[in-house]
Amino acid sequence: MSRKKKGIKVNRGESALEAIQNQVPHWIHEKIEDPSSITGYMYSRSCTCSQCGFEASFEKPRCPHCGAEMQHMKGL
Ligand SMILES: [Zn+2]
Repeated sequence: MSRKKKGIKVNRGESALEAIQNQVPHWIHEKIEDPSSITGYMYSRSCTCSQCGFEASFEKPRCPHCGAEMQHMKGL
């Protein structure tokens, strides 16, 4: 059986988590410095598609530009 397995490819020097994050469509939130926050920063509400770079003003279930179904990366 030589059926190709569709899986996550992990590149050298890349953690499995990073590999998944790079290959699973998700919204990327920009980190903004925020002195009033305990951590010193907050995440912007607007986000960028990890697949095509489309900028959205808030998270949508799908990217309106490339149609990728967005996954929530929280907890990973
Ligand atoms: Zn997109």
